[in-house]
Amino acid sequence: MRTRFAPSPTGDLHLGGAFVALASWHMARRAAGTFVIRMEDLDTPRVVRGSADRILEDLAWLGLSFDGPLVVQSERSSLYEEALGTLQMRGLTYVCDCSRSEIAREASAPHEGEESVYPGTCSAKPTDRELKRAGAVRLRVPNEVVRVNDALMDPIAQHLAASVGDFVLKRGDGIFAYQLAVTLDDLAMEVTDVIRGADLLASTPRQVHLATLLGAKPPRYWHLPLVVDANGERIAKRAPGAHVRGLREAGVSREEILGELAHALGITDTSGPSGLDALLRRPSLTRVPRSPWKIPARWQQL
Ligand code: GLU
Repeated sequence: MRTRFAPSPTGDLHLGGAFVALASWHMARRAAGTFVIRMEDLDTPRVVRGSADRILEDLAWLGLSFDGPLVVQSERSSLYEEALGTLQMRGLTYVCDCSRSEIAREASAPHEGEESVYPGTCSAKPTDRELKRAGAVRLRVPNEVVRVNDALMDPIAQHLAASVGDFVLKRGDGIFAYQLAVTLDDLAMEVTDVIRGADLLASTPRQVHLATLLGAKPPRYWHLPLVVDANGERIAKRAPGAHVRGLREAGVSREEILGELAHALGITDTSGPSGLDALLRRPSLTRVPRSPWKIPARWQQL
């Protein structure tokens, strides 16, 4: 069993991140497996300087030790470039120089709140044309349903062409897309079990499809319920109680945080303070609720 926690260093470790980290750590440690950390720092415009170190400090403060070395995506461009080259050579990609607004104008959004579907505008354009702007590289998706079983949520069935369209592997600004990097990294790092938030459910078929195209067996997926505020709404990122560091600075103990997280994951029956050793005596993710975890109101009020 090899699990991973893959934070994006765009701010301090939030409770949603700590929730995923504890679940992944617990699964690996209970199984005497390996728990690795991967810093997902590819989207440089969103990276907040210093936050990678602060996330690692917060994980260490919680006691969630990982097995090294730390994997840093910005150091792995050659892995992504090579796989992209393979897909390009197989004729599975094309360059797209549509602007965001052009796509928005032509695209259809299947359901409210979902990403819009790329309409394939550039898929048949000549490769030697003059580009309007630096082009993105897109993957041609098949007209098929991709099915993925999830260890916690309902099986996912997504028709890639109808729900997402040909998706971006490398952006026009030269940044490798999350879908490509995460798929390649999970395979290269031999992650057996991907444990993460249900906000990434809709990305999973794309990742499974990519892994399959590359001839690999995708990992098992465990999508955890979302973490919401005490009112059931998206957590305000700036609220001090939304981050491990804010809680810690407000005097909340690590045992109190771990106790709440473990209870929300169904690891323990009560939400009282708990140390990691006690948590390791409990089974891992056998009773994870499906509904979102509402963080304690007392934390939200900090
Ligand atoms: N870096 C992503 C995030 O922080 C997680 C990626 C993943 O777990 O697949 O949302």
